[in-house]
Amino acid sequence: MTLKTKISPQEAMQTKKLLDGCKNVVILAHQSPDGDAIGSTLALWEYLTRKGKNATVIVPNYYPDFLKWMNGADKIVLFARQKALSYNLLKMADLICVLDLNDPIRMGDELGKVVPSLRCKRLLIDHHIDPVKKPFDAVVSRPECSSTCELLFRLFTAISAIEHLSLHGAEDIYAGMYTDTGGFSFNSNDPDIFLIIAELLRKGIDKDRIVRNINNFYTADRFRLMGYVLYEKLQIFPDLHASIFSITKEELKRFNYLKGDMEGIVNMPLGIRGHKLSVSLREDTEKPIIWVSIRSYDEISAQDMATRFFNGGGHFNAAGGRLLDMPMELAIEKAKEAIEAFREQLTNNNS
Ligand code: MN
Repeated sequence: MTLKTKISPQEAMQTKKLLDGCKNVVILAHQSPDGDAIGSTLALWEYLTRKGKNATVIVPNYYPDFLKWMNGADKIVLFARQKALSYNLLKMADLICVLDLNDPIRMGDELGKVVPSLRCKRLLIDHHIDPVKKPFDAVVSRPECSSTCELLFRLFTAISAIEHLSLHGAEDIYAGMYTDTGGFSFNSNDPDIFLIIAELLRKGIDKDRIVRNINNFYTADRFRLMGYVLYEKLQIFPDLHASIFSITKEELKRFNYLKGDMEGIVNMPLGIRGHKLSVSLREDTEKPIIWVSIRSYDEISAQDMATRFFNGGGHFNAAGGRLLDMPMELAIEKAKEAIEAFREQLTNNNS
């Protein structure tokens, strides 16, 4: 069985022209980059570097430690900490590749403004809905793809670049696909995903080792924090098959919180039998913001809830948002209101 890339000849031609024609490339991803953001930027970096291009990955801010095993991760430039270097690289770039985001603003206010204003070519490769197309010379957007890494693999195939994909590049792509689908537990029914994995395995990746690198990376503090949230903080609404948990910055401090420590905890309540919705409220340790994360199953739209109640958005079953200048008690009330608004769908018994 061969993979149908679903990339149009025009998209392939445009992308190939941009990637072949550049010399100095900056590859960018969104704020608080996740496995897909780091995986896709590093996979593209591997490819361009092997083609003799001068490529650098810049991310707006910190990315989690469990991604640091990836080849090239130590060379990633953090915009927040290395501004002068970042600006130099951006000014020198004749091509900027933006990955895993649909709007430059997702890189933060500063990068969001700077990137569209630079005099260079710009390429967007992404799987979020409604991409902002204007600042880009070419846009490859596929909201139906499980991850930007999956899309990048399709694109590489379409431009005959797969034979040049290195083992490290293949590892990056697997890591992004794995993390963006919760270990192929959601958003991953497309058989093509498994054709791609087969190809990556043929490239020699050790998927068992990758999974161990990603998953078994907790500190003891993070492990205790997870236990605390699940035991002390989880409010379950059995009739609605839903739950909410909240965590304040004081509570986070008790567990020597490091950025990324709350990652993934929002998925856990979905392990309760019949559960369809999980909402997490986390107070920022510095700014007066409560970060909201929503996970759902089936026809319950986390995205819709994030947009209507929490100034956010995302994917259908995995979305997020934020509440500004709101005490936690009120945020909890707001979350209760949000799940109440979905009562009909949540109590609908067809799944
Ligand atoms: Mn993604």
